[in-house]
Amino acid sequence: MPRLFPSMETARYHNLRTLLQWDRAKAKKTLLQLQEDSKQVVAHIEEEMIRLHGFKWKIWLGFHALPSMDHIHLHIVSSDLCSSFLSNKERYNGFHPKTGIFLHLHKVLRWFERKDSYYTRVVSQLSGRRYGPLLRKKMICWKCSADWEDFPTFKAHLQEEWDEEKRRAVSQKNQEEEAAANTLDETNTELDRQNKQQSRLDNMSTSPA
Ligand SMILES: [Zn+2]
Ligand SMILES: [Zn+2]
Repeated sequence: MPRLFPSMETARYHNLRTLLQWDRAKAKKTLLQLQEDSKQVVAHIEEEMIRLHGFKWKIWLGFHALPSMDHIHLHIVSSDLCSSFLSNKERYNGFHPKTGIFLHLHKVLRWFERKDSYYTRVVSQLSGRRYGPLLRKKMICWKCSADWEDFPTFKAHLQEEWDEEKRRAVSQKNQEEEAAANTLDETNTELDRQNKQQSRLDNMSTSPA
């Protein structure tokens, strides 16, 4: 297998915990770089959302406290959580924004501003044993907090939640566009009135006394 880094360095990038247990400044720099690199991807996803659905919805960036691969990776996930990729309970729970398994990048970055003792404690808590049971807990809708036993029924509920979000966003957008068009109409009418008044004045001043 080709190695991109010497093995010592590779070990640092094994997962979030190994990275954060490394030199704090270097770990932070790595995360900021990941954040920077994700911007283009996020912009592209948002363009696609608008192109295909007429609105954009939240995108989450984060890590799994329970690593899903042998190399640190940042997940970029759209908050509808109804894609076919999310095919079972464990996957859903792994991306729920509040169970604590999915660690939002912006929150992890805040750990660097805390005292050493806090930082060391949260980082040492990043172990598989702690998160395994959370994955198997019953599914709770991250939007309305209702709980669900059956995955297909829950999946249909998530789809309804997103459909509703879309309906609201699109109707709000339409209202805003209508309001903007009305304002433009009013402005045009006002300009028109001013122009007419001006031309009346012009006519008056040019008409013979
Ligand atoms: Zn993962
Ligand atoms: Zn719900």
